[in-house]
Amino acid sequence: MADKYTQAVNTGFTRTLAKRLGLPRPSLLRRHTPGAPLTVGPVLVVSDDASVADADVIAKALLGWDLDVRRSAESTAGDEHFRWGAVVLVLTGAQTPESVSGAVLAAGSTLRRLAPNGRVVTVSRAPESGDAPAVAATRAGVEGFLRSVAKELRAGATGNAVQLTGGAEVDSASALAAVRFFLSAKSAYVDGQVLPVGPSGAAVDTAYWERPLEGKVAVVTGAARGIGAAIAKTLARDGATVVVVDVPPAGEALTAVANEVKGTALQLDVTAPDAGAKILEHATGRHGRLDIVVHNAGILRDKLLANMDAAKWDSVIAVNLASQLRIDEYLLGAGVEGLHIVSLASTSGIAGNKGQSNYAFSKSGVIGRTAATAPLVAALNGTINAVAPGFIETDMTRSIPFATREVARRLSSLLQGGQPVDVAEAIAFLASPAAAGVNGQVLRVCGQNLVGK
Ligand code: NAD
Repeated sequence: MADKYTQAVNTGFTRTLAKRLGLPRPSLLRRHTPGAPLTVGPVLVVSDDASVADADVIAKALLGWDLDVRRSAESTAGDEHFRWGAVVLVLTGAQTPESVSGAVLAAGSTLRRLAPNGRVVTVSRAPESGDAPAVAATRAGVEGFLRSVAKELRAGATGNAVQLTGGAEVDSASALAAVRFFLSAKSAYVDGQVLPVGPSGAAVDTAYWERPLEGKVAVVTGAARGIGAAIAKTLARDGATVVVVDVPPAGEALTAVANEVKGTALQLDVTAPDAGAKILEHATGRHGRLDIVVHNAGILRDKLLANMDAAKWDSVIAVNLASQLRIDEYLLGAGVEGLHIVSLASTSGIAGNKGQSNYAFSKSGVIGRTAATAPLVAALNGTINAVAPGFIETDMTRSIPFATREVARRLSSLLQGGQPVDVAEAIAFLASPAAAGVNGQVLRVCGQNLVGK
């Protein structure tokens, strides 16, 4: 549920009051409900001249998802009540900085009429070594453009970028899955992000989107509450059989989650030296296979470094980082094929946070090891990615002092904290077969938190 301030500025008298006083007014974000339309209105697909063919491919895919797709804004010009659900700006073929202006301005001219919870998605190519300077400049430019546009959007609208790498094509499964994720309500709290997408297989058929994890077996650590419980529920909704893992003292809550998702519970401290073996044994013994591992278990032991003791430092490193390394080493060593691993990082690991030198070390470490593990998992036809949440409303963040918590909430483009389900949706996307071309990446789920590098 939205925090109290967000609720107040969206209801009755307090809404009017906040408007009069010019107070910041975070919007109620639209989240995924099965059966609801993918976007909140028609989608405009625009491109520069060199990207028309790719824009045609994307428009065709969007039509296949039952969206109302337009290739020009002209027919809507006289209709003052018309609202766009999304704008997809395709710049895959752009070679010079001068060539994007028409398409960019066409997209811009629709933004005043972008519906609440609307979407802006750019599709372009990542700068690669060997690019001519003008090409690299154009490709890099899209990133700064998108991040700025995301900051200009209002009323729960978001902007995100799909960046094709390594010769990936727009009609590949992963490129289209990424476009779909960013258009959908599943990415409600993902804003201002650039996701590199590499080559993958052919596009999936329409039935896939109902239950993308059908037949898969997933393990989620730290799943007795908070973000972990939300991940377990979301993976189960998408069709996976879920094994939920947590420490024995959380056993009762863990059983409740396992029952809710119709999965099984494994009481296990992830720092145990044989945790990897226990996980593999349980998943294959009880469910016949292991496809997805979500390293979510994590702890905070905040202290200024000057006051840090060994217990606080070591326990955070052991739970948040060393356990993940050890479990993955075991699973990869055992030759588990086609694993999709997703780890919980944090924006603290990207920007740093006072009092969290131990936590930030662990979360930066997660990001570093995600990149380094990517080729090892790819050799077994799998992927590993990380999700970096910003401020998410959970028991963990409820322990933060009120004033700090309130500032942290408002310091994002969406002016509010995220919900556990927002992190879960990003993980379900990264763990899905269609995301096979996304490997070694970090996706922030932070409402475009104003911290970062
Ligand atoms: P939480 O404290 O509510 O839940 C963490 C769960 O992990 C608990 O159920 C706990 O029992 C379990 N756990 C702890 N140590 C364990 C161990 N050794 N073995 C097995 N299970 C263990 O936390 P949360 O807010 O849901 O966070 C989940 C993850 O997301 C963590 O990795 C956290 O660092 C990360 N994260 C959270 C936020 C946020 O704003 N809440 C932001 C960034 C990152």
